[in-house]
Amino acid sequence: MAGRPSDTEILEAVEAYAGRRGAGGRATAPGAAALTWTTLLDFRIVRSLKTHGERPMREPGSRKDIANRPTYTVLDSHPVPPPEDPEQARSWTLVLEGSLGEEPCAGCDGGTNKCGACRGRGVRDCPRFVDCPVCEAGPDACWECEGTGRSRSRRPPHWRPGTSAADRAARVRCVRCRTDDVACPKCRGRRRLDCPECGKSGQVECTACSGAKRVTHPECRGTGRFTVWTEGWIRHTPHRDRERRLGRRDLRRATGNTGDWHENVLRRTTDKLPDDLDDSDEALIAPHLTPRKDEVARRATLRRLPLAHVRVHADPHRDYFAFPTHTGIVVLSRPTGERVRHFAALGTAAALLVTLVAVLAMVLLR
Ligand SMILES: [Zn+2]
Ligand SMILES: [Zn+2]
Ligand SMILES: [Zn+2]
Ligand SMILES: [Zn+2]
Ligand SMILES: [Zn+2]
Repeated sequence: MAGRPSDTEILEAVEAYAGRRGAGGRATAPGAAALTWTTLLDFRIVRSLKTHGERPMREPGSRKDIANRPTYTVLDSHPVPPPEDPEQARSWTLVLEGSLGEEPCAGCDGGTNKCGACRGRGVRDCPRFVDCPVCEAGPDACWECEGTGRSRSRRPPHWRPGTSAADRAARVRCVRCRTDDVACPKCRGRRRLDCPECGKSGQVECTACSGAKRVTHPECRGTGRFTVWTEGWIRHTPHRDRERRLGRRDLRRATGNTGDWHENVLRRTTDKLPDDLDDSDEALIAPHLTPRKDEVARRATLRRLPLAHVRVHADPHRDYFAFPTHTGIVVLSRPTGERVRHFAALGTAAALLVTLVAVLAMVLLR
């Protein structure tokens, strides 16, 4: 792999780094350090996969615009250009050659049907009269004839017990029995009023058809016909896959941001993985490169970063890690696993000792 530093360069960088930190030990001296290489790996592939299908279409009206759409004869082999960028999703809508036609609507007559609400009359029946809301069409319509026109008596006074003076004063001459000051002021003794809706005619315009007697057929949107055709669709959809081996979690930020990753990009199914790829890495990645059915484009990106692990024998409690960046070799150090456990044990021992001293002090002070 291009850009991989030599072992000597790595050891020199570690020695300089350790020196700056005041840690002794000459890493470059023969046999003074052990160096092992690993390769961090970040592989991604995005493929553009082609899918297609057909469906019967039926839309209301005379859709002249459908004739302007591109047509196909065999959808499977219909040519569409592969995407420049496999990340890009695209779709085509086509019309099967010779499938476009029109058919009359079977559910109406020329786009309309007889109005169901008025049964095609354009009007609906309405009572000619309504009850008087003041006397409620009861005996209060007239205190003399009760709205019948036949006087029951001539005896005064002409009022009902329990009626107020204001009520009595509002009374008018009855149109039925022609007695003064006895009738309901609203209906004048008639008990009912002319219907305000139909004006006594007995019919009102049908609200469902506005009097037109026919209503628009919603299914064909009043056109009385349908446009029918077979639609074919083709889609290019991106599918992504990845394989990663990014090494120690606590080094990922540094290696990811500053590492001089070596990149290979494969765009054709015939493009080969680089020769210098480890066999185990090739075994990991090769299955991801197998061409998929209906694959029309791909972009596979293989990125690798060599990472050196150095143990300096004179400085056994630290692990050194080094990797190339664009500006040189970066070295990082971490306490060894043994060192971390050692300090954890020391911490526990110290805590125990503090507890013991405290107990002893309490005993002595009693
Ligand atoms: Zn219709
Ligand atoms: Zn009416
Ligand atoms: Zn009367
Ligand atoms: Zn009345
Ligand atoms: Zn109607």
